[in-house]
Amino acid sequence: MDTKEFKNFIIKAVDNNFKWSKNWENFKFDDSIKISKTETKKIIADLQNKLNNSYPFFHPSYMGQMITPPHPIAIISYLMALQINPNNHALDGGPATTELEIEVIKELSKMFGYKTWLGHLTASGTIANLEALWIAREINPKKKIAFSTESHYSHKRICQLLRVPFVEIKSNQNGKIDLEDLKTKLKYNSIGTLVINIGTTGFGALDNLKEIIPLAKIYNVRLHADAAYGGFFKLLSKINPPEVDSNIFDLLNKCDSVVIDPHKRGLQPYGCGCVIYRDNKVGKFFKHDSPYTYFTSQDVHLGELTFECSRSGAAAASLWATLKAFPLEPNFGLGKILSQTRSCALKWDKLINKSDVLNSLVKPELDIVTYYARTKYFATSQISNSSENIFNELMNRPKNKIYLAKYKIDPRKFKLLNPKAKIDSKEVTILRSVFMKPEHNIYVQGLFNQIEAVAQKYI
Ligand SMILES: *Cc1c(COP(=O)(O)O)cnc(C)c1O
Repeated sequence: MDTKEFKNFIIKAVDNNFKWSKNWENFKFDDSIKISKTETKKIIADLQNKLNNSYPFFHPSYMGQMITPPHPIAIISYLMALQINPNNHALDGGPATTELEIEVIKELSKMFGYKTWLGHLTASGTIANLEALWIAREINPKKKIAFSTESHYSHKRICQLLRVPFVEIKSNQNGKIDLEDLKTKLKYNSIGTLVINIGTTGFGALDNLKEIIPLAKIYNVRLHADAAYGGFFKLLSKINPPEVDSNIFDLLNKCDSVVIDPHKRGLQPYGCGCVIYRDNKVGKFFKHDSPYTYFTSQDVHLGELTFECSRSGAAAASLWATLKAFPLEPNFGLGKILSQTRSCALKWDKLINKSDVLNSLVKPELDIVTYYARTKYFATSQISNSSENIFNELMNRPKNKIYLAKYKIDPRKFKLLNPKAKIDSKEVTILRSVFMKPEHNIYVQGLFNQIEAVAQKYI
């Protein structure tokens, strides 16, 4: 969609809302909410000035954190619903957008291969995980929750908040759960729930579900998949041959609950996470009485099945429209976009394997790559310094700025991956990139050459 087309749809969204509002008796807005044109102009100009101090998340030269603007279709549809501002807490708050939410949850559940489900959108992955672990605690009230050391930092906090004792399972140098440590901890702890990662935030590592599922059966452990970042890559396991590890992704339907963030790889603006339970009977744990809202219908109100009260109906509208434009299909729609970002990570890996200057740390399983400059003495302090220098020079140079991310890891794990490394620091900083945009595919060689040229100065 070009800028002109985009602008026209935005105007249409505003016009349509205006037309729709004419269905009710005309009235005059109160003076207390009016602002003058001059004042508005000034505020908008000031805000624009402040916003100019942002990083170019939209551009292929931004290959740092997991941030990218929403797709234009998401912006248009979000704006359409935003003007009405439905609240998906209850059918009374968002009759239209609740229907859209139910539809998108069905599509996501089917993508994961669930035959039954209960789920809803959330404000974020953190809130979605909080809710899933709350339900896990209610199901196994006296037992511990286990997660790996590579899990998102919020799991520890969530357990603290829920006052559930937790066990941390070691992860190996590739970021996956250490199966030996898992076996030992399952044996000697009363673990009720295990969080597994489908794409760690650090490496994009996938835990070995094939080996974990039988263990969970033996010890009667509930499995919760944190697929906040990696969930949509499930689509690529259906391509022939699969472009991600289908041994892992095709077993996701064996997990009791799953979290996925449409605001990460689903082209959505922030404020869109999602939690899905395989057993729809978990609804009973949400039973509560809200005296305020439920009066128009005996149907299920999503608000009766959520941890949060008010939830954005616009987020549901935006995801619904986006999935119409980019269906959850392996060979087109969203699958095609992810396939390109995945292929980008593989291209990067090939380039790095041929390079005398840069090394890759682990082979990418999804579309996150980790790398560092091959410094002369291979000492961890020196590698950290070079990563800092490369990072700073690329983003601060006057022209052709490139934005990377940094990642601090345990030097002992670094040494397991690079036996020649000399440990002389408590941490080692490496570089990390997420290829979130399909456009990276064209730019990857050029970006690589530029990064390699800068890295050359710091080895
Ligand atoms: C991003 C992420 C989270 C947290 O999700 P938010 O939407 O940022 O709150 C949790 N787990 C994993 C694996 C993530 O990548």
